[in-house]
Amino acid sequence: MPTVRVTEIFRSLQGESLRAGFPCAFVRLTGCALRCVWCDSAYAFSGGEELDVDEAARRVLELETELVEVTGGEPLEQEGVYALMDRLLAAGRTVLLETGGHVPIDRVDPRVIKIVDVKAPGSGMQAANLPENLELLGERDELKFVLADRRDFEWALALVSEKELDRARTVTFSPAWEGVDPAALAGWIRDSGRNVRLGLQLHKILWGDVPGK
Ligand code: SF4
Repeated sequence: MPTVRVTEIFRSLQGESLRAGFPCAFVRLTGCALRCVWCDSAYAFSGGEELDVDEAARRVLELETELVEVTGGEPLEQEGVYALMDRLLAAGRTVLLETGGHVPIDRVDPRVIKIVDVKAPGSGMQAANLPENLELLGERDELKFVLADRRDFEWALALVSEKELDRARTVTFSPAWEGVDPAALAGWIRDSGRNVRLGLQLHKILWGDVPGK
């Protein structure tokens, strides 16, 4: 039986994607090889509980949400995540996967909606981006840039423009928590000429930067 190491399983509202605002069950897997400067889930770097995939899936499904999200840490660093996503898909759920973008996404079931980070310079982790992941995105998948400052915005906008990333899918620019002023970012996006979406972390606006929300 495959296992996964889990930091937390909880029900909240989806906060950051096109599905923001809908009730969602989250399973946060433990561990990440990166150390983004503004990471808001450092408490998931270590610890956690080792669970059989069936048990993890059972705990997610008993929260009775149509939408479920596998997040981390970095979920794709655990082999058991594939079996876990299979269980959640088999139960008829809409499955979202949040990934940092530094692990190949080629093994993820195409029915899973992937929300893939692209790390801007202000994260300190730009070198970890895998350009090949951009070629593996499906129509429903989303790209997310978390931006710390104007330099990050210029960098992200240049990449979106060069590769026309906003033509075929949703591209979200989000302010890093306590980073760039959200109103300033909104204005930059408005005037950017690209079809980019402003993402605000709904769960943090509602409840603050706390685990389990
Ligand atoms: S990839 Fe995600 S979990 Fe890992 S350090 Fe960056 S923000 Fe944190």
